Amino acid sequence: MKSHYKAVVIGGGVVGCSVLFHLARAGWTDICLIERSELTSGSSWHAAGGFHTLNGDPNVAKLQAYTVSLYKELEEISGQSCSLHLTGGVMLADSPERMDFLRLAHAKGRYLGMDTELITPSEAKAMFPLMDESHFVGAMWDPVEGHLDPSGTTIAYSKAAKKLGAEIVLRNPVKELTQQPDGNWNVVTEQGVVKCEHVVNCGGLWAREIGRMVGLELPVLAMEHMYLLTEPMPEVEAFNKETGREMIGVLDFKGEIYTRQERNGILLGTYEKACKPWSPVNTPWDFGHELLAPDLDRIAPSLEIGFRHFPGIANAGIKQVINGPFTFAPDGNPLVGPVQGLTNYWVACGVMAGFSQGGGVGLALSNWMVNGDPGFDVWGMDVARWGEWASLRYTNAKVRENYSRRFSIRFPNEELPAARPAQTTPLYDTMLAQNAVMGDSWGLETPLWFAPQGTEPKDIVSFHRSNDFEHVGNEVRHTRDSLGVTEIANFAKYEVTGTGCEAFLNHLMTNKMPKAGRIVLTPMLNEFGKLIGDFTIAKAGDERFIIWGSSAAQKYHMRWFEKHLPADGSVRIHRYDQTLVGLSIAGPNSQKLLQKLVDVDVSSKAFRFMDFREMAVGGATCMVNRITYTGDLGYEIWMQPAYQQLVYRAIKQAGEEFGIVDFGMRALLSMRLEKNFPTWFRELRPIYGPFEGAMERFIKMEKNDFVGRAAAAKELADGPKLRRVSMIVDAADADVMGDEPIWARRKGKDFGTVGKTHDFGAPRFDASGQAVRGSTAASGASAVRGLQDGDWSVVGWVTSGGYAHHVGLSMAQGYVPAALADDESAGLFEIEILGHRRPARINVEPPFDPSGEKMRG
Ligand SMILES: Cc1cc2nc3c(=O)[nH]c(=O)nc-3n(C[C@H](O)[C@H](O)[C@H](O)COP(=O)(O)OP(=O)(O)OC[C@H]3O[C@@H](n4cnc5c(N)ncnc54)[C@H](O)[C@@H]3O)c2cc1C
Repeated sequence: MKSHYKAVVIGGGVVGCSVLFHLARAGWTDICLIERSELTSGSSWHAAGGFHTLNGDPNVAKLQAYTVSLYKELEEISGQSCSLHLTGGVMLADSPERMDFLRLAHAKGRYLGMDTELITPSEAKAMFPLMDESHFVGAMWDPVEGHLDPSGTTIAYSKAAKKLGAEIVLRNPVKELTQQPDGNWNVVTEQGVVKCEHVVNCGGLWAREIGRMVGLELPVLAMEHMYLLTEPMPEVEAFNKETGREMIGVLDFKGEIYTRQERNGILLGTYEKACKPWSPVNTPWDFGHELLAPDLDRIAPSLEIGFRHFPGIANAGIKQVINGPFTFAPDGNPLVGPVQGLTNYWVACGVMAGFSQGGGVGLALSNWMVNGDPGFDVWGMDVARWGEWASLRYTNAKVRENYSRRFSIRFPNEELPAARPAQTTPLYDTMLAQNAVMGDSWGLETPLWFAPQGTEPKDIVSFHRSNDFEHVGNEVRHTRDSLGVTEIANFAKYEVTGTGCEAFLNHLMTNKMPKAGRIVLTPMLNEFGKLIGDFTIAKAGDERFIIWGSSAAQKYHMRWFEKHLPADGSVRIHRYDQTLVGLSIAGPNSQKLLQKLVDVDVSSKAFRFMDFREMAVGGATCMVNRITYTGDLGYEIWMQPAYQQLVYRAIKQAGEEFGIVDFGMRALLSMRLEKNFPTWFRELRPIYGPFEGAMERFIKMEKNDFVGRAAAAKELADGPKLRRVSMIVDAADADVMGDEPIWARRKGKDFGTVGKTHDFGAPRFDASGQAVRGSTAASGASAVRGLQDGDWSVVGWVTSGGYAHHVGLSMAQGYVPAALADDESAGLFEIEILGHRRPARINVEPPFDPSGEKMRG
């Protein structure tokens, strides 16, 4: 071990070894992995070794596909076998809802280039004869599934890293981490102190403890997890002999079971409802290559269903039960990236599927460390997605909920109850008393919609339009016709002050900063010219700006702001969080209402569209923006929490004469749809350029050399490849939810297809043992199967949408090739909703108030 390295990776599980390999491959070879014991001394050694590409987040799914595609190369570089078994697998649906879920996953797979296929239960049975097909209504085949040897794979990463020049030190626990004034880290280990520029926490089961070494409470928790191995089964042996193939992997959502062949028997694991955390507060340092005591009673309900669904397994003897711990973040996705508030402290932990995700995590993190950017859209696993509210207890409740729901459907209108309420505004009880159905918005309880008196304030979860449809519609119609009020505490708010604040913001933002008392809308780009933010900014004073943005991105944006703060202290940033809350009023009577509450002139001449002013509203000092996300005449009113009740009561009282209604987030999102307004993290994400995102109005190339300008200029010169569009959909009883494929009719032109191709999937075989035509490896053209259908091809994807109640249209936003983005003709597009392709057409002008007359007042 040397005394100094560029980077030290702590932890030699599959994730640490993958990070080490990827850093070395990216050219950083002055690096060292320090492992407290032997490699794989955490959860990696006893994993079931299964891998797959499916993930609810398409960007994480892409990184999973990368992980699987890496294994062959890894074996070649390292000379170490991963014992790869690429069997393919099926997911079994026991209900129409689950079949809808598979249809959605299959549709999403189209533009991800996944070669999935929807099949019947009997077709599934032909591949996995141990099942009883009468329990199922359908299935989805995925050729990119299989299993490997977890220890061999971890060793393969480590050997490949060493071949590229990286060092590995074993049997050397890291005890302390301290940062020196020069920014270098002192890594205090049992074998001495090592200095390094970057430190990476890949501590797996001990990631929390390594976080605590720098005062960080990472939201990860280990859960006990069991799988069993059967004795050799004659049915399995016969199948192998007859077909010359291994049995496929099977996932049974209803039984909460996954299963696959292991040697001559079966491996069967469960994600049981009665799940159990392991070491909920502190992970013992003396835990090593150990297993936990099996507890078959806990998984008995799952096994009971499993044995009914797979009678072929029910009679097999159980050879061994493995019970081991592994870690989860509250939403089940990894925690990756630099930690806000710390310099050069990186994490890659909470990886619950190390053999599906480890490669992608290593690639993204190494890109981030070496190039300053992960190179992909990794928001779904960015450590910045959790706020301070994600405490130890929050994490415990949420991880248990996530584990027990691992195989449950999450409906698009479903709010999960664990660890709530975490944060509330002063209006929480008032909102509940008014029958609000609340949602979780980055840890904050926020009204979604209001049930009329006598109606239960509860969502009926569904992929289709549901019980809120009529009520959200009424909220929109009342607001558009007269007046509505909603809570907007769930926006991000920052104050930027200091002599250098204007220059700082002009350097980071694409738009010119406003004059005093005015507001601008502005995207923010990274150096690669990709969208990393979208803000509303008001100039509140000579050296004071107020910024509003996406609540979920607060840590993500603070990390970026802090990285770019001038060293001379001339700029200060304060994140208000819930010390500033807000209310928005909107609708044609909103100006009259505001006038009743204030003692200054707020006519459209005196207080213009996009003006900002501090004024007393109902007697409380507030900041008021003459702008709302409804796209209507309206205002955002911001105040300290102590005044929120006062202002709200004043609004409701004065609004009575206009028949004021409360509206929730769903009505707000419906109203923004009919204005073609984009949302951050849906339409606007770091995979799109500003011209692709149709944000040109807010990009002032001439103003200065802002971050990302050169790349944006190149995008403009080359012409954007994709373009954000708004569409009107001929939907039935279900609107788009996001991630649906957009099909286009070629009309003699070739638009290409959008999916990436894989050539590493397993072929699907029918009962007679023939490879099914079109399935991977059975057909060279299979990579684009599912992306083309006669004259139609998948050319884009939906980012979000829903029902625009005021104009009475089902609407979608998404990305299509730029060449098609202005073509409003009917018959050109279709959007696949729950397995049905619905006609759609581009709608360039917003259907509500296209000239902006109403908004300007
Ligand atoms: C029963 C079971 C079945 C599973 N099945 C699957 C599966 O089928 N597919 C799949 O993809 N995943 C599966 N997993 C999950 C998988 O094991 C994890 O995703 C993976 O092991 C996480 O790897 P890691 O490197 O993050 O953590 P770990 O494997 O826990 O590695 C962390 C390493 O850090 C070291 N370390 C910690 N603290 C220090 C310190 N202070 N100093 C030095 N070193 C330190 C530890 O000794 C350890 O070696 C399963 C897990 C279990 C328990």
